[in-house]
Amino acid sequence: MQILRTIEELQNIRKTISTNVGFVPTMGALHDGHISLIKKARTENEIVIVSIFVNPTQFLPGEDLDAYPRKDEADKKICELCKVDYLFMPEISTMYSKEEVLIKAPNKSYILEGLARPGHFDGVLQVVLKLFGITQPTNAYFGKKDAQQLSLILQMVKNLFLPINIIPCEIVREKDGLALSSRNIYLSSEQRKDALLISKSLYSAGALIAKGELNATIVKNKILEIMRPLEIEYVAIVDREFNEIDTIELKNTIILVVARFEKTRLLDNIWI
Ligand code: AMP
Repeated sequence: MQILRTIEELQNIRKTISTNVGFVPTMGALHDGHISLIKKARTENEIVIVSIFVNPTQFLPGEDLDAYPRKDEADKKICELCKVDYLFMPEISTMYSKEEVLIKAPNKSYILEGLARPGHFDGVLQVVLKLFGITQPTNAYFGKKDAQQLSLILQMVKNLFLPINIIPCEIVREKDGLALSSRNIYLSSEQRKDALLISKSLYSAGALIAKGELNATIVKNKILEIMRPLEIEYVAIVDREFNEIDTIELKNTIILVVARFEKTRLLDNIWI
């Protein structure tokens, strides 16, 4: 595995590759969720590039940019074990110049995560577009865990005619159901226990739907009831385009929840 720090190094290498390139962008502190994306990329491409970059433009003032977990040495080992070919770890000054062409996420993104974190998705799309420009992947891998992000990246690729396949990947969970996240380390043991109510509520919603309940309000109320002890930020039932829906449509619905544990926001969802 080669570790690359500059755009030039990666671009020069990219020019020599004429086979499929699989790309997995991350912010590091790698866990089994990231690893599942990397493994999928490994099986589906000749060359695998992983990036680790804690992107400042997707953090709002007052968010955890400075405190965001950084585990460079452990991450390098993980990538090596996963047989990554190139690990791209640029500095902020490598990725951004003083004045930038800005990317604006569509207005419809200013709901749910975009409402809680205005401007967040502008920063996400900006960095992903830059990374796509540098790596020019055949296939790029994104987790369904960040469902709204995935939906906006699919839209960006479509709107900007980027010749890249976006590959959605399943959510990886702890054995007890908690969705893996780099931010789980912020939780106290008490909060970690309480956080199980999030996946529990989604599983119950899934079971209710499997029994034939398609009324979104009834399903939402079930989730709210189970998550009641938590500080719930939102529960939303949307179609794949992120329009709120009244009736659950099989294979076209995503149920999203966010709960807050002091400063830590935990996101989870299920795809129906
Ligand atoms: P991040 O490092 O948080 O920016 O995440 C990098 C990629 O890993 C994104 O595409 C995430 O959606 C994905 N990811 C994060 N957590 C999980 C998880 N538990 N299961 C599957 N993918 C995940």
